[in-house]
Amino acid sequence: MADVFSPEKRSAVMAAVRGHRNKSTELRLLAILRGCRFTGWRRNHPLPGKPDFAFPKLKLAVFVDGCFWHGCRQHGSMPKSNAEYWLAKVARNKRRDREVGRLLRDKGWEVLRIWEHELSRANEKRLFAKLSRAYFRNQRSNGAE
Ligand SMILES: [Zn+2]
Repeated sequence: MADVFSPEKRSAVMAAVRGHRNKSTELRLLAILRGCRFTGWRRNHPLPGKPDFAFPKLKLAVFVDGCFWHGCRQHGSMPKSNAEYWLAKVARNKRRDREVGRLLRDKGWEVLRIWEHELSRANEKRLFAKLSRAYFRNQRSNGAE
């Protein structure tokens, strides 16, 4: 079945969806960071790729990746219509993710990418462990308080 929207219109629709979801995943991670009692994070810190959260003293950048937009193997299923268009778009996102990661590492930052699906309540302990490892490792290596 053909998509009811043109690719441009579909893009705008999906962008609106993404905006909403990004906001909810960011807020979810925000709640988790607060729950972990981590300190020193910033939002909208000026860095390549605009990480969702940055810990400037620790030089730790955290991204939350939507399963669809970043091509998660478990949940990144393509819409049936315009599949090629979406495949190309997701491939571009993944390429950009790698480039951003390289840019940040070149600047001495560690990059932590978290999948949208890792934010589920069932995964809370594992996510906490993943965040803690990065947080405390960088705290030691950067000598921050
Ligand atoms: Zn996923």
